Amino acid sequence: MMKQYDYLIVGAGLFGAVFAHQMTTLGKRCCVVDRRPHIAGNVYTEAIEGIDVHCYGAHIFHTSDREVWDFLGQFCSWIPFINSPIANYHGELYNLPFNMNTFYQMWGVTTPEAAMAKIETQRNGISQPSNLEEQAISLVGTDIYEKLIRGYTEKQWGRSCRDLPAFIIRRLPVRFRFDNNYFNDPYQGIPTEGYTRICEKLLEGTDVILNTDYLLCRRELNPLADRVLYTGCIDEFFGYCYGALEYRSLRFETEVLDLPNYQGVAAMNFTDTQTPYTRIIEHKHFTFGTQEKTVITREYPSPWKKGMEPYYPVADEKNLALYRRYAALSESSGVLFGGRLAEYKYYDMDKVVRSAMNLARKEAAE
Ligand code: FAD
Ligand code: UDP
Repeated sequence: MMKQYDYLIVGAGLFGAVFAHQMTTLGKRCCVVDRRPHIAGNVYTEAIEGIDVHCYGAHIFHTSDREVWDFLGQFCSWIPFINSPIANYHGELYNLPFNMNTFYQMWGVTTPEAAMAKIETQRNGISQPSNLEEQAISLVGTDIYEKLIRGYTEKQWGRSCRDLPAFIIRRLPVRFRFDNNYFNDPYQGIPTEGYTRICEKLLEGTDVILNTDYLLCRRELNPLADRVLYTGCIDEFFGYCYGALEYRSLRFETEVLDLPNYQGVAAMNFTDTQTPYTRIIEHKHFTFGTQEKTVITREYPSPWKKGMEPYYPVADEKNLALYRRYAALSESSGVLFGGRLAEYKYYDMDKVVRSAMNLARKEAAE
Protein backbone atom coordinates (compact mmCIF):
# COMPACT_ATOMS: atom_id res chain seq x y z
CA MET A 1 0.00 0.00 0.00
CA MET A 2 1.23 3.48 -0.78
CA LYS A 3 2.38 5.29 2.32
CA GLN A 4 1.10 8.75 3.25
CA TYR A 5 4.55 10.35 2.99
CA ASP A 6 7.80 9.78 1.14
CA TYR A 7 9.81 11.28 4.03
CA LEU A 8 9.24 11.55 7.75
CA ILE A 9 11.70 14.20 8.93
CA VAL A 10 12.59 14.33 12.61
CA GLY A 11 13.52 17.90 13.56
CA ALA A 12 12.08 21.15 12.21
CA GLY A 13 15.46 22.93 12.46
CA LEU A 14 17.38 24.29 9.49
CA PHE A 15 18.51 20.87 8.32
CA GLY A 16 15.03 19.34 8.40
CA ALA A 17 13.40 22.42 6.85
CA VAL A 18 15.90 22.70 3.95
CA PHE A 19 15.68 18.98 3.20
CA ALA A 20 11.85 19.10 3.31
CA HIS A 21 11.84 22.04 0.92
CA GLN A 22 14.15 20.41 -1.57
CA MET A 23 12.24 17.14 -1.62
CA THR A 24 8.81 18.85 -1.76
CA THR A 25 10.01 20.82 -4.77
CA LEU A 26 10.76 17.48 -6.42
CA GLY A 27 7.18 16.34 -5.80
CA LYS A 28 7.90 14.27 -2.69
CA ARG A 29 5.47 14.30 0.25
CA CYS A 30 7.13 15.25 3.54
CA CYS A 31 6.07 15.34 7.17
CA VAL A 32 8.23 17.04 9.80
CA VAL A 33 7.95 16.16 13.48
CA ASP A 34 9.56 18.12 16.31
CA ARG A 35 9.39 17.73 20.07
CA ARG A 36 9.55 21.46 20.67
CA PRO A 37 6.39 23.60 20.47
CA HIS A 38 7.79 25.53 17.49
CA ILE A 39 9.63 25.08 14.19
CA ALA A 40 13.15 26.37 13.33
CA GLY A 41 15.15 24.50 16.01
CA ASN A 42 17.92 26.64 17.45
CA VAL A 43 17.50 29.45 14.93
CA TYR A 44 14.02 30.19 16.30
CA THR A 45 13.25 33.88 16.78
CA GLU A 46 10.25 35.48 18.46
CA ALA A 47 9.08 39.10 18.62
CA ILE A 48 9.17 40.73 22.09
CA GLU A 49 8.37 44.47 22.31
CA GLY A 50 8.62 44.56 18.52
CA ILE A 51 12.20 43.24 18.66
CA ASP A 52 13.16 39.97 17.00
CA VAL A 53 14.65 37.91 19.86
CA HIS A 54 17.07 35.07 19.09
CA CYS A 55 15.64 32.62 21.62
CA TYR A 56 18.54 30.15 21.52
CA GLY A 57 21.47 32.56 21.37
CA ALA A 58 22.76 35.08 18.84
CA HIS A 59 22.56 33.82 15.26
CA ILE A 60 24.47 35.73 12.61
CA PHE A 61 24.39 34.18 9.18
CA HIS A 62 27.76 34.12 7.42
CA THR A 63 29.11 32.06 4.55
CA SER A 64 31.62 31.78 1.74
CA ASP A 65 29.27 29.42 -0.09
CA ARG A 66 27.56 31.49 -2.78
CA GLU A 67 25.04 28.77 -3.61
CA VAL A 68 23.89 28.57 0.02
CA TRP A 69 23.62 32.37 0.25
CA ASP A 70 21.57 32.57 -2.95
CA PHE A 71 19.41 29.63 -1.89
CA LEU A 72 18.40 31.26 1.42
CA GLY A 73 18.01 34.60 -0.35
CA GLN A 74 14.91 33.15 -2.04
CA PHE A 75 13.23 33.09 1.37
CA CYS A 76 14.40 36.35 2.96
CA SER A 77 16.07 39.69 2.43
CA TRP A 78 19.24 40.37 4.38
CA ILE A 79 20.13 43.22 6.72
CA PRO A 80 23.85 43.73 6.06
CA PHE A 81 25.03 43.16 9.63
CA ILE A 82 28.75 42.73 10.39
CA ASN A 83 29.26 41.01 13.72
CA SER A 84 31.73 42.98 15.87
CA PRO A 85 31.42 41.79 19.46
CA ILE A 86 33.14 43.48 22.39
CA ALA A 87 35.07 41.54 25.03
CA ASN A 88 34.64 42.78 28.59
CA TYR A 89 37.41 41.72 30.98
CA HIS A 90 36.70 43.14 34.47
CA GLY A 91 35.36 46.32 32.85
CA GLU A 92 38.21 46.69 30.33
CA LEU A 93 36.79 46.63 26.81
CA TYR A 94 38.51 45.07 23.79
CA ASN A 95 37.50 44.60 20.19
CA LEU A 96 37.04 41.11 18.84
CA PRO A 97 38.11 39.13 16.92
CA PHE A 98 41.82 39.52 17.66
CA ASN A 99 42.94 42.33 15.36
CA MET A 100 44.98 45.55 15.33
CA ASN A 101 42.32 47.31 17.47
CA THR A 102 42.66 44.58 20.13
CA PHE A 103 46.47 44.70 19.98
CA TYR A 104 46.43 48.49 20.35
CA GLN A 105 44.03 48.29 23.31
CA MET A 106 46.10 45.51 24.94
CA TRP A 107 49.62 46.84 24.36
CA GLY A 108 49.45 50.30 22.77
CA VAL A 109 51.12 48.99 19.60
CA THR A 110 50.17 50.89 16.47
CA THR A 111 51.68 48.87 13.61
CA PRO A 112 51.29 45.25 12.45
CA GLU A 113 55.05 44.80 12.80
CA ALA A 114 55.00 45.90 16.45
CA ALA A 115 51.97 43.67 17.18
CA MET A 116 53.66 40.64 15.62
CA ALA A 117 56.87 41.35 17.55
CA LYS A 118 54.90 41.58 20.82
CA ILE A 119 53.13 38.28 20.15
CA GLU A 120 56.44 36.65 19.22
CA THR A 121 57.81 37.41 22.71
CA GLN A 122 54.79 35.62 24.27
CA ARG A 123 54.52 32.56 22.09
CA ASN A 124 56.50 30.32 24.41
CA GLY A 125 58.12 28.68 21.39
CA ILE A 126 55.08 26.50 20.67
CA SER A 127 55.29 25.22 17.11
CA GLN A 128 52.86 22.28 17.11
CA PRO A 129 49.94 23.09 19.42
CA SER A 130 48.26 20.00 20.81
CA ASN A 131 45.39 21.63 22.70
CA LEU A 132 43.37 24.87 22.84
CA GLU A 133 45.70 26.59 25.31
CA GLU A 134 48.81 25.96 23.21
CA GLN A 135 46.96 26.91 20.03
CA ALA A 136 45.73 30.20 21.54
CA ILE A 137 49.14 31.17 22.95
CA SER A 138 50.89 30.35 19.69
CA LEU A 139 48.42 32.56 17.78
CA VAL A 140 48.08 35.61 20.04
CA GLY A 141 50.43 35.24 23.02
CA THR A 142 49.85 34.90 26.75
CA ASP A 143 48.28 38.33 27.54
CA ILE A 144 45.37 37.86 25.17
CA TYR A 145 45.06 34.22 26.16
CA GLU A 146 44.80 35.15 29.85
CA LYS A 147 42.44 38.12 29.45
CA LEU A 148 40.23 37.21 26.52
CA ILE A 149 40.35 33.45 26.03
CA ARG A 150 41.03 31.35 29.12
CA GLY A 151 38.12 32.50 31.32
CA TYR A 152 35.54 32.56 28.55
CA THR A 153 36.57 29.16 27.20
CA GLU A 154 36.70 27.42 30.56
CA LYS A 155 33.22 28.76 31.43
CA GLN A 156 31.85 27.82 28.02
CA TRP A 157 33.20 24.27 27.97
CA GLY A 158 33.45 23.49 31.70
CA ARG A 159 37.01 22.21 31.48
CA SER A 160 40.60 23.38 31.21
CA CYS A 161 41.82 24.82 27.89
CA ARG A 162 44.49 22.12 28.01
CA ASP A 163 41.75 19.49 27.69
CA LEU A 164 40.05 21.04 24.66
CA PRO A 165 40.76 20.56 20.95
CA ALA A 166 42.74 23.33 19.24
CA PHE A 167 40.25 23.74 16.37
CA ILE A 168 37.71 25.51 18.64
CA ILE A 169 39.87 28.64 18.93
CA ARG A 170 40.74 28.57 15.22
CA ARG A 171 37.08 29.47 14.58
CA LEU A 172 38.13 33.06 15.40
CA PRO A 173 40.18 35.11 12.93
CA VAL A 174 43.50 36.67 13.96
CA ARG A 175 44.16 39.74 11.81
CA PHE A 176 46.93 42.27 11.52
CA ARG A 177 44.50 44.86 10.14
CA PHE A 178 42.15 47.25 11.92
CA ASP A 179 39.08 45.15 11.17
CA ASN A 180 36.52 44.04 13.79
CA ASN A 181 34.57 41.69 11.51
CA TYR A 182 34.18 38.48 13.55
CA PHE A 183 33.96 36.36 10.40
CA ASN A 184 36.07 36.01 7.27
CA ASP A 185 33.15 35.11 5.00
CA PRO A 186 32.19 37.47 2.15
CA TYR A 187 28.41 37.02 2.71
CA GLN A 188 27.00 38.00 6.09
CA GLY A 189 23.67 39.26 7.39
CA ILE A 190 20.54 38.92 9.49
CA PRO A 191 17.24 37.97 7.81
CA THR A 192 14.92 41.00 7.90
CA GLU A 193 11.91 39.01 9.09
CA GLY A 194 13.84 36.56 11.27
CA TYR A 195 14.96 32.96 10.82
CA THR A 196 11.59 31.49 11.84
CA ARG A 197 10.01 33.12 8.79
CA ILE A 198 12.64 31.47 6.56
CA CYS A 199 11.77 28.08 8.06
CA GLU A 200 8.03 28.75 7.65
CA LYS A 201 8.61 29.38 3.97
CA LEU A 202 10.88 26.35 3.60
CA LEU A 203 8.16 24.21 5.18
CA GLU A 204 5.33 25.36 2.89
CA GLY A 205 3.79 22.21 1.42
CA THR A 206 5.15 20.04 4.27
CA ASP A 207 2.95 18.73 7.09
CA VAL A 208 4.32 19.73 10.50
CA ILE A 209 3.64 17.96 13.81
CA LEU A 210 4.96 19.74 16.92
CA ASN A 211 5.25 18.74 20.60
CA THR A 212 5.96 15.17 19.55
CA ASP A 213 9.04 13.17 20.45
CA TYR A 214 9.76 10.80 17.58
CA LEU A 215 11.68 8.41 19.79
CA LEU A 216 8.61 7.94 21.99
CA CYS A 217 6.26 7.40 19.02
CA ARG A 218 8.40 5.50 16.52
CA ARG A 219 5.90 2.69 16.21
CA GLU A 220 3.06 5.02 15.17
CA LEU A 221 5.19 7.35 13.03
CA ASN A 222 7.45 5.00 11.06
CA PRO A 223 4.63 3.35 9.08
CA LEU A 224 3.56 6.78 7.74
CA ALA A 225 6.56 7.19 5.44
CA ASP A 226 8.89 5.30 3.13
CA ARG A 227 11.99 6.90 4.59
CA VAL A 228 13.02 8.60 7.84
CA LEU A 229 15.48 11.48 8.16
CA TYR A 230 16.61 12.05 11.74
CA THR A 231 18.29 15.32 12.86
CA GLY A 232 18.37 14.77 16.65
CA CYS A 233 21.24 13.33 18.73
CA ILE A 234 22.62 10.18 17.14
CA ASP A 235 23.42 8.51 20.49
CA GLU A 236 19.86 9.09 21.71
CA PHE A 237 18.48 7.52 18.52
CA PHE A 238 20.35 4.32 19.33
CA GLY A 239 19.30 4.32 23.00
CA TYR A 240 22.85 5.31 24.09
CA CYS A 241 23.82 1.68 23.43
CA TYR A 242 27.55 2.51 23.34
CA GLY A 243 27.24 5.21 26.03
CA ALA A 244 26.36 8.92 25.87
CA LEU A 245 28.25 11.45 23.77
CA GLU A 246 29.17 14.66 25.58
CA TYR A 247 27.40 17.95 24.88
CA ARG A 248 27.40 21.39 26.49
CA SER A 249 24.15 23.04 27.33
CA LEU A 250 23.13 26.64 27.94
CA ARG A 251 20.60 28.55 29.99
CA PHE A 252 19.20 31.78 28.56
CA GLU A 253 17.90 34.55 30.82
CA THR A 254 15.96 37.17 28.89
CA GLU A 255 14.95 40.56 30.26
CA VAL A 256 13.00 43.52 28.85
CA LEU A 257 14.54 46.83 29.92
CA ASP A 258 12.77 50.15 29.92
CA LEU A 259 15.58 51.97 28.14
CA PRO A 260 16.50 52.30 24.48
CA ASN A 261 20.13 51.14 24.53
CA TYR A 262 21.72 48.96 27.23
CA GLN A 263 25.22 48.06 26.02
CA GLY A 264 25.59 49.72 22.61
CA VAL A 265 26.50 46.52 20.80
CA ALA A 266 24.68 43.29 19.84
CA ALA A 267 27.06 40.94 21.64
CA MET A 268 29.29 41.56 24.65
CA ASN A 269 31.49 38.67 25.82
CA PHE A 270 32.45 38.47 29.50
CA THR A 271 35.87 36.89 29.43
CA ASP A 272 36.71 36.75 33.14
CA THR A 273 36.10 33.63 35.20
CA GLN A 274 33.91 35.20 37.93
CA THR A 275 30.99 36.46 35.80
CA PRO A 276 28.80 33.37 35.51
CA TYR A 277 27.53 34.11 31.99
CA THR A 278 29.62 34.21 28.82
CA ARG A 279 27.67 36.74 26.77
CA ILE A 280 24.96 39.36 26.87
CA ILE A 281 23.04 39.75 23.64
CA GLU A 282 21.12 42.97 22.99
CA HIS A 283 18.83 41.80 20.25
CA LYS A 284 17.69 45.11 18.72
CA HIS A 285 21.26 45.90 17.58
CA PHE A 286 21.17 42.99 15.11
CA THR A 287 18.61 44.91 13.09
CA PHE A 288 19.56 48.50 14.01
CA GLY A 289 16.28 48.75 15.98
CA THR A 290 14.94 52.05 17.22
CA GLN A 291 12.29 50.78 19.66
CA GLU A 292 11.82 52.59 22.99
CA LYS A 293 12.64 49.48 25.02
CA THR A 294 15.35 46.90 24.67
CA VAL A 295 15.59 43.14 25.23
CA ILE A 296 18.76 41.50 26.52
CA THR A 297 19.67 37.83 27.05
CA ARG A 298 22.37 36.51 29.34
CA GLU A 299 23.87 33.21 28.20
CA TYR A 300 24.93 30.84 31.00
CA PRO A 301 26.92 27.75 29.99
CA SER A 302 25.91 24.59 31.74
CA PRO A 303 26.83 20.91 31.89
CA TRP A 304 24.54 18.75 29.78
CA LYS A 305 22.51 15.91 31.25
CA LYS A 306 19.94 13.68 29.56
CA GLY A 307 16.72 15.64 29.03
CA MET A 308 18.47 19.03 28.54
CA GLU A 309 19.02 20.76 25.19
CA PRO A 310 22.37 19.65 23.75
CA TYR A 311 23.61 22.88 22.17
CA TYR A 312 27.25 22.04 21.51
CA PRO A 313 28.91 18.70 20.66
CA VAL A 314 32.18 18.36 22.61
CA ALA A 315 34.19 17.17 19.63
CA ASP A 316 37.36 15.90 21.31
CA GLU A 317 39.08 12.65 20.31
CA LYS A 318 37.26 10.53 22.87
CA ASN A 319 33.81 11.69 21.76
CA LEU A 320 34.68 11.55 18.06
CA ALA A 321 35.75 7.93 18.46
CA LEU A 322 32.41 7.16 20.12
CA TYR A 323 30.56 9.10 17.43
CA ARG A 324 32.26 7.02 14.73
CA ARG A 325 30.84 3.86 16.30
CA TYR A 326 27.33 5.32 16.17
CA ALA A 327 27.92 6.52 12.59
CA ALA A 328 28.88 2.98 11.59
CA LEU A 329 25.66 1.73 13.16
CA SER A 330 23.64 4.35 11.32
CA GLU A 331 24.87 3.11 7.95
CA SER A 332 22.97 -0.16 8.22
CA SER A 333 19.88 1.35 9.91
CA GLY A 334 18.03 2.37 6.75
CA VAL A 335 17.51 5.83 8.30
CA LEU A 336 19.08 9.07 7.01
CA PHE A 337 20.99 11.21 9.53
CA GLY A 338 21.92 14.89 9.20
CA GLY A 339 22.54 18.17 11.04
CA ARG A 340 24.56 19.39 13.99
CA LEU A 341 23.34 16.73 16.42
CA ALA A 342 23.06 13.70 14.14
CA GLU A 343 26.46 14.38 12.52
CA TYR A 344 27.93 15.48 15.89
CA LYS A 345 29.65 18.46 14.23
CA TYR A 346 30.19 22.03 15.43
CA TYR A 347 28.33 23.20 12.33
CA ASP A 348 27.41 26.80 11.62
CA MET A 349 24.12 27.46 9.83
CA ASP A 350 25.60 27.64 6.35
CA LYS A 351 27.27 24.25 6.77
CA VAL A 352 23.95 22.78 7.88
CA VAL A 353 22.18 24.20 4.82
CA ARG A 354 24.95 22.90 2.56
CA SER A 355 24.82 19.45 4.15
CA ALA A 356 21.00 19.28 3.78
CA MET A 357 21.18 20.41 0.14
CA ASN A 358 23.79 17.71 -0.56
CA LEU A 359 21.72 15.01 1.09
CA ALA A 360 18.62 16.05 -0.89
CA ARG A 361 20.65 15.95 -4.09
CA LYS A 362 21.88 12.47 -3.26
CA GLU A 363 18.37 11.27 -2.47
CA ALA A 364 17.02 12.76 -5.69
CA ALA A 365 19.65 10.91 -7.69
CA GLU A 366 18.68 7.52 -6.23
P1 FAD B 1 18.68 22.02 15.45
O1 FAD B 1 18.41 23.45 15.20
O2 FAD B 1 19.19 21.61 16.78
O3 FAD B 1 17.36 21.21 15.10
C1 FAD B 1 17.15 19.88 15.51
C2 FAD B 1 15.69 19.76 15.88
O4 FAD B 1 15.39 18.39 16.12
C3 FAD B 1 15.32 20.52 17.15
O5 FAD B 1 14.26 21.41 16.90
C4 FAD B 1 14.92 19.42 18.14
O6 FAD B 1 13.84 19.79 19.00
C5 FAD B 1 14.48 18.31 17.18
N1 FAD B 1 14.58 16.97 17.76
C6 FAD B 1 15.67 16.38 18.30
N2 FAD B 1 15.36 15.15 18.73
C7 FAD B 1 14.05 14.95 18.46
C8 FAD B 1 13.15 13.88 18.67
N3 FAD B 1 13.54 12.74 19.25
N4 FAD B 1 11.86 14.02 18.27
C9 FAD B 1 11.44 15.16 17.68
N5 FAD B 1 12.25 16.21 17.46
C10 FAD B 1 13.54 16.11 17.84
N6 FAD B 1 25.45 29.30 13.47
C11 FAD B 1 25.81 30.34 12.67
O7 FAD B 1 25.97 30.16 11.45
N7 FAD B 1 25.95 31.60 13.17
C12 FAD B 1 25.77 31.88 14.50
O8 FAD B 1 25.91 33.03 14.90
C13 FAD B 1 25.41 30.81 15.36
N8 FAD B 1 25.24 31.03 16.66
C14 FAD B 1 24.90 29.99 17.49
C15 FAD B 1 24.71 30.26 18.84
C16 FAD B 1 24.35 29.24 19.71
C17 FAD B 1 24.16 29.53 21.17
C18 FAD B 1 24.17 27.91 19.21
C19 FAD B 1 23.80 26.78 20.13
C20 FAD B 1 24.36 27.63 17.86
C21 FAD B 1 24.72 28.67 16.99
N9 FAD B 1 24.89 28.45 15.62
C22 FAD B 1 25.25 29.50 14.81
C23 FAD B 1 24.69 27.10 15.03
C24 FAD B 1 23.26 26.87 14.53
O9 FAD B 1 22.36 26.99 15.61
C25 FAD B 1 23.17 25.46 13.94
O10 FAD B 1 24.11 25.30 12.90
C26 FAD B 1 21.80 25.08 13.38
O11 FAD B 1 20.75 25.61 14.11
C27 FAD B 1 21.68 23.57 13.36
O12 FAD B 1 20.49 23.16 12.72
P2 FAD B 1 20.00 21.66 12.84
O13 FAD B 1 18.74 21.56 12.07
O14 FAD B 1 21.10 20.75 12.52
O15 FAD B 1 19.75 21.42 14.41
N1 UDP C 1 36.32 32.46 22.55
C1 UDP C 1 37.05 33.08 23.53
N2 UDP C 1 36.76 34.36 23.88
C2 UDP C 1 35.76 35.05 23.28
C3 UDP C 1 35.01 34.43 22.27
C4 UDP C 1 35.31 33.12 21.93
O1 UDP C 1 37.95 32.47 24.10
O2 UDP C 1 35.54 36.22 23.64
C5 UDP C 1 36.64 31.05 22.22
C6 UDP C 1 35.83 30.07 23.05
O3 UDP C 1 36.64 28.94 23.29
C7 UDP C 1 34.69 29.73 22.12
C8 UDP C 1 35.41 29.69 20.78
O4 UDP C 1 36.36 30.78 20.87
O5 UDP C 1 34.09 28.49 22.47
C9 UDP C 1 34.55 29.85 19.56
O6 UDP C 1 33.85 31.08 19.67
P1 UDP C 1 32.51 31.33 18.86
O7 UDP C 1 32.14 32.76 19.04
O8 UDP C 1 32.67 30.82 17.48
O9 UDP C 1 31.48 30.41 19.68
P2 UDP C 1 29.91 30.13 19.46
O10 UDP C 1 29.31 31.39 18.92
O11 UDP C 1 29.83 28.96 18.52
O12 UDP C 1 29.45 29.80 20.84
